[in-house]
Amino acid sequence: MDTKKVTNNTEGLVFNIVHGSFVDGYGIRTTVFLKGCPLRCKWCCNPEGQKSKPELKYTASLCNGCMKCIEVCPADAIKKVITESGEKISVNRALCTDCFKCIDSCFTGALDRFGKYYTVDELFDVVRRDMNYYRSSGGGVTIGGGEASIQSEFALAFIKKCKENFIHVAVDTCGYTVSEQAFNVLAEADLLLYDLKGMDAEHHIRDTGKSNELIIANLKRLDALNIPIIIRLPLIPGHTDSDDTIIKTAQLLSSLKSLDRVDLMNYHEYGKVKYAQLGIDYKLSLKALTEEHLSEIAGIFGEYSIKTQIGG
Ligand code: SF4
Ligand code: SF4
Repeated sequence: MDTKKVTNNTEGLVFNIVHGSFVDGYGIRTTVFLKGCPLRCKWCCNPEGQKSKPELKYTASLCNGCMKCIEVCPADAIKKVITESGEKISVNRALCTDCFKCIDSCFTGALDRFGKYYTVDELFDVVRRDMNYYRSSGGGVTIGGGEASIQSEFALAFIKKCKENFIHVAVDTCGYTVSEQAFNVLAEADLLLYDLKGMDAEHHIRDTGKSNELIIANLKRLDALNIPIIIRLPLIPGHTDSDDTIIKTAQLLSSLKSLDRVDLMNYHEYGKVKYAQLGIDYKLSLKALTEEHLSEIAGIFGEYSIKTQIGG
């Protein structure tokens, strides 16, 4: 791995750290979410992970209407609004320059930010506190996002640091890497959590903004490296759940030699609140797949001798 350009003082932009996760790989894990993603999936449940910069977070339920933030905003981006639950604010994102001056004036926590910079050493200090859980459960650290490989220099240096300390590293990826260095982030993983969002290139562009060709090509390259792979399949009604899509996915996966299992990720709207905090409309409104439909999909994979798990 080439990490000559980076040091442990290299900074990465992190938008969340989850301790004690059972759903991001083997054992008990600490999952670090890096900001920035090349895709724009319509069903994304981490919209705060898409942009590669810190963003203003406004939680209306915490706002007490004191209006102190309006006084400090240099861009005139905040205005008072009357809502059913009293006086609140509204942020004009087109005017906001992300200076974050308003956050310091807000004592209720209604204004905050998505995204904090850590050096490799600072982030490692956070994850090493869970070392006993990794050791006792066969767990480790998972790097996700956003897209884990997009801050490739930082991710490579962080993986190196974890490995020097004998911590298992899983990388959760959309598989869309635009540089060889980004691909190397995936190649350095001990375990890959690899998202597949459909087999049809045109539909993939419609739903994510990018073609799936590079994603499938990278999956085949990684398979040759003998890294265990868990495929994560978001099942979005009317987008990724047709029998045709599932059969084509199973056909592709049955040719892999490093495949461990496929996680069937049912549609949910847990991320909706974060769209509101970013001032973005949540456009999808779908019904999750039934238990019966999930069982049918698991059955199709079973016909190709592929193990499945509901959820990840
Ligand atoms: S400073 Fe905070 S609590 Fe006061 S109006 Fe602004 S967002 Fe609401
Ligand atoms: S981040 Fe800066 S520009 Fe944006 S609303 Fe807050 S004070 Fe105004």
